[in-house]
Order: sequence, then structure tokens, then C-alpha cells
Amino acid sequence: MMQPEPFNMICPKCGYSKKVTPRSDAIGIEMIQQCPKCQTYMERKEIQESSFFGKLFGK
Ligand SMILES: [Zn+2]
Repeated sequence: MMQPEPFNMICPKCGYSKKVTPRSDAIGIEMIQQCPKCQTYMERKEIQESSFFGKLFGK
């Protein structure tokens, strides 16, 4: 079974971030994420970025 790629949801207003693991039975969950602190719609940010730099620096 394919493992969906997790990603981060980040609030552009206060910086709150949350890791989200999408499920095949809950498609669209990333579209309705709101910051629990300020209710701002959060932006999706791929975690891939950090792992990419992790490889660059041999971590
Ligand atoms: Zn916020």
C-alpha cells in the first residue's frame, strides 16, 4: 500500500505549524486547515525541502 507524503501546514500570520499526513479516505483535509490560534487559513508547505537540505549536508 502506498504511503502518502506528509506535509506541513503553516500559518502565515503567527507561524504555527502542523504536520499533516493525508489519508486516501480523507482527501481534501489540507484544504480546510485553519490555525487553531488565529483561525487564519494555513498554507501547505512540503517537508521535502528540509530532507533535501538534509541530504546536501549529509545528515
Ligand atoms: Zn495563526
